[in-house]
Amino acid sequence: MTAQSGISERAQSALEDDFLRQAVRFTADRLRGKKQVSTEQLGNWESWRERGQAIRAHTIANLDSYLAQFADRVRQAGGHVHFASDAAEAVEVVLSIARGKGARSVVKSKSMVSEEVHINHHLQNAGIEVVETDLGEYIVQLANETPSHIIIPAIHKTRAQIRDLFTAAGGEQLTTDTKTLAGFARQRLRQKFLAADIGITGCNFGIAETGTVVLFTNEGNADMVANLPKTHIVLMGMERLLPTLEDLEVFANLLPRSATGQPLTAYLSMITGPRRRGDLDGPEELHVVVLDNGRSRQLGDPHFQAVLHCIRCGACLNVCPVYRQIGGHAYGSVYPGPIGAVLTPLLQQDETYADLPYASSLCGACAEACPVKIPLHDMLVRLRQRRAATGRTPALEKSAFHAYRVAFANHRRYRLAFGTARVLQRPLVQDGGIANGVGPLSAWTATRYAPAVAPRSFRARWGELRQTLHGPSGGSRTSEDGDARRQEEGTRDA
Ligand code: SF4
Repeated sequence: MTAQSGISERAQSALEDDFLRQAVRFTADRLRGKKQVSTEQLGNWESWRERGQAIRAHTIANLDSYLAQFADRVRQAGGHVHFASDAAEAVEVVLSIARGKGARSVVKSKSMVSEEVHINHHLQNAGIEVVETDLGEYIVQLANETPSHIIIPAIHKTRAQIRDLFTAAGGEQLTTDTKTLAGFARQRLRQKFLAADIGITGCNFGIAETGTVVLFTNEGNADMVANLPKTHIVLMGMERLLPTLEDLEVFANLLPRSATGQPLTAYLSMITGPRRRGDLDGPEELHVVVLDNGRSRQLGDPHFQAVLHCIRCGACLNVCPVYRQIGGHAYGSVYPGPIGAVLTPLLQQDETYADLPYASSLCGACAEACPVKIPLHDMLVRLRQRRAATGRTPALEKSAFHAYRVAFANHRRYRLAFGTARVLQRPLVQDGGIANGVGPLSAWTATRYAPAVAPRSFRARWGELRQTLHGPSGGSRTSEDGDARRQEEGTRDA
């Protein structure tokens, strides 16, 4: 299913895949459980979150000066900085570096920004081989798919499916044994690391005071990508900065604990400039491509600027009741889950992703899980408001809300509406709920409980309730009570 098919159609197709739903729930539960243990071990998790939020808010509020400082420091360390206003410019920068080097092959480590600008597709079109080296990304690349989780890209694949992919790639029959599969990938990728002309990585954080690029990884592949080829290109979103190395301490705790429940990732790599005289390894050239692509539009927006605080930990995905049912591909965008439902329509302001904010129950679990306290559920509501203001709401929904407004604006109309509903619902009521709803209501009642309108309203029952509570002499029934009851009963018979 493509992004053009709409979230409802894509979600429906995902819901029919039992394995996908089980796999996503199982992995999300594991990550969530590990996060809980890890944050309890750290202690004072709320204080850590508040500190993280404050640092991110300060950085984004002063992004222009931190970006200028970061670029200066990278250049002082011998690197090159390129600012790209959109995906096309970022791709052109990478292609021109590759052309200048006569590159034939590129190795990559996991990078959401490179997915965002579709760099693999453009490099391959230019005749350059691109190999993903993160194990999950490698699997997804062989399957010709996109990642379905920010942290666990191949969350939706079985071992048998991975065996089949590796068998096809290697030309020899493999088993589903984990060691065999990992051994195959290691052997294949080692050759690619050694032969590559260019390595492309993402960037978890850029440190403004030193011009350092920081990478959190677990497989060590990012270090090979960054150090073995002669040229290293870093693709980073313009918001991924921290002011100082001291600030990194907070995020070295927040990010891995929120992402995978680890106290620290296996590798925390800090790259400042290319190889210097006397260094044993490292690239001869380092290029940092800083991507805007809609991010600067959020600066100064009181409702959406905080989306730039995101550190891409994936914790909001693991707790989201919608993501847990439909997985990442149903979102049709590079960024899935609650953060994707907010970020994607903000970055790409056209109709393609305008329905993503509706992929949420607005329960607020995402905001509670977020290590930097981004109010994702508020943003989802604001994006829905924004869409409604464009007048693109379906006619049926518009009429329903119009009727709701008319009924609730006046107590007589309110009673009339509920009295009518009481009569009309009679053939559908079973055990206090509406069973087998008709028309658009059927989509709701097929999978959810829809309570029936109560036989008598609270207002109509209030006089009796007062007598029960206070006794016949405990309180006099007001004329309003009687009036309410008369009106209610009159309406009921209407
Ligand atoms: S919005 Fe928060 S929880 Fe979700 S990926 Fe970003 S930082 Fe993590």
